[in-house]
Amino acid sequence: MTAAHTVEQVPVTTLAGHLLELTVHTLRGAAPGPRLVLFGGIHGDEPMGSETVRRIVETIDTAELSGTIVAVPVANPYALQALTRNTPIDGVNLNRIFPGTRTGTVTEQVAAVLCEILSGADHFIDFHSGGILATVDYAYIHDAGAEMSRAFGCSVLYKGKPYPGSATGWALEQGIACMVSELGGGGQRIEEFLDRGIGGTLNVLRALGMLPGAPVPPPPGQVVVETLTVLRPTVGGTMLSSYGAAQIGERIPKGTVLARIVSPFTSEELEVLTAPYEPSILVLGREPLTNVTPGDYGLMLADGSTAKPA
Ligand SMILES: [Zn+2]
Repeated sequence: MTAAHTVEQVPVTTLAGHLLELTVHTLRGAAPGPRLVLFGGIHGDEPMGSETVRRIVETIDTAELSGTIVAVPVANPYALQALTRNTPIDGVNLNRIFPGTRTGTVTEQVAAVLCEILSGADHFIDFHSGGILATVDYAYIHDAGAEMSRAFGCSVLYKGKPYPGSATGWALEQGIACMVSELGGGGQRIEEFLDRGIGGTLNVLRALGMLPGAPVPPPPGQVVVETLTVLRPTVGGTMLSSYGAAQIGERIPKGTVLARIVSPFTSEELEVLTAPYEPSILVLGREPLTNVTPGDYGLMLADGSTAKPA
């Protein structure tokens, strides 16, 4: 095989005469090996994922690579440009409608094209983060691809079912070993989370035999949790939080007040968010002042009492 980095524009559909394409990088290694697919930016308010994939593409030396990496840094271009979770054109959450359809709305068509790109992969990593107002730190772990999640190096691994209609849910049905990275967001500790996303992926590549060298062992204290709860505010308003990016990973006693949601008009306290488990492990935090909407990702906490060594 001849090592090569090629870039392809894959057409999706046309909007008002403008062609929507996905940019697909193919890094073909010098030696044969597995096929790994990377997606960033399925959610447009998570630019950390796109930047992580972009930097991985820049970092990999194809002469050292065994196998092939197919990378889509921007899986949902219009959503990334607008910094919105859902695609602005049709209001659809791309990560809830896989496998999509070529005869559907813009987002459904994007999903269908992404499935064509994913087909035939051995491994898949989907890069997410907190939205623009939240910082997160964990990775999913599934039976198919568990070695990837451990090597990626997050301290908290979540053994949860993928959301119906998610890219990894579809990939698992196709027999593709996969994981979701949830790193960063919220404009906090940016370089640290980028370094961990890139370094974690390089370590996954070593664990899969796609890069030379032994993988770095997972961090001591890496745990698998089966219960991870999103504290979703039932009301919108101003969220005053004491648990942000600096507190992620802390073990918090049950009942601790984590955040208050107040009315920006009257100062009335509308809702109080408290730690649900003994102890609760913080995996998604918010800075002291953010805005929340009903059903938002307020905070996320894992049940520390059932955490098991990975
Ligand atoms: Zn996401």
